[in-house]
Amino acid sequence: KSEIGEKICFFDKKMDDTVRNKRQLAIDLRHALENNQLEVYYQVQTLVSDSSVIGYEALLRWQHPQRGFIPPVEFIPLAEENGLILQLGEWVLRTACSQCSSLGLNIRVAVNLSPVQFLHPNLPGLVAGVLTDTGLRPENLELELTESAIIQDKERTLLQLQQIRKLGVTIALDDFGTGYSSLDTLRAFPFDKIKLDRSFMGEIESSKSARAIIRAVLALGRSLEIPVLAEGIETCDQLAILHAEGCESAQGYLFGRPAPFADILSGHKGDPRAQALRSVPRE
Ligand code: C2E
Ligand code: MG
Ligand code: MG
Ligand code: MG
Repeated sequence: KSEIGEKICFFDKKMDDTVRNKRQLAIDLRHALENNQLEVYYQVQTLVSDSSVIGYEALLRWQHPQRGFIPPVEFIPLAEENGLILQLGEWVLRTACSQCSSLGLNIRVAVNLSPVQFLHPNLPGLVAGVLTDTGLRPENLELELTESAIIQDKERTLLQLQQIRKLGVTIALDDFGTGYSSLDTLRAFPFDKIKLDRSFMGEIESSKSARAIIRAVLALGRSLEIPVLAEGIETCDQLAILHAEGCESAQGYLFGRPAPFADILSGHKGDPRAQALRSVPRE
């Protein structure tokens, strides 16, 4: 065989392995969902002014029995491809709402939505059902959406956003400043929050242009009256800069890494606010 022939053969085998690998991972993911091997972790969101807790972002975690931890960026796209995301997303929504409702605190939980879930006509009904089932107050649920969902179908997006907001649930625009971000999106859709992507934070201390962009987004948020949350805050210096620039809220390793619900629960043990909320009758 010629050298080229061998290379082609080798290439084909690698492709084949990748495809088989993906297929196996998709099977394992379905199995994980059906056998309770997935977990929702929570990362705290805080007010920049006094670092008080305003809520948590729910982040899906998968500990594969053989391969160990597999990050969501690897398995979410797989689930989107084969449609499992609908079931997976519903499970995350239900789990996050039920766990946060059980905290008995007036704080918000933010749940990420895949474009596939978001464009599903049944989503508003599903959200309403989950709120009823779990007893979470609508104003304590926020749904996070990236612009990739919006560009797929603008009319449908607007309709979905309006129906979800009618329930009293808020919507955050995730990863702002990357990918398809456009000012037109902010003008055309009713967002309750802008999440400034963490890629800007890394350079906020050293790069004048990164800081200029952050300042511009914060100014934009102020004039549109949409609060901005900065993602990926890791250092006190970054926090100090955000404070100086007037950023409302933040999230990042500085305040806490994503953690299991048990940790969140024990962190709020004896929280006087829990008692206060429980005594308020629910309609
Ligand atoms: P995201 O929604 O932008 O979530 C924030 C990501 O940034 C999380 O990664 C979080 O662990 C990470 N992060 C938070 N603070 C810091 C920091 O200070 N430094 C650094 N370097 N990273 C930080 P994670 O959990 O790996 O999730 C990645 C992405 O996967 C999420 O980005 C989201 O798009 C997606 N994802 C996670 N859970 C779900 C889910 O339940 N459903 C859907 N559809 N997507 C999800
Ligand atoms: Mg998010
Ligand atoms: Mg984000
Ligand atoms: Mg992201």
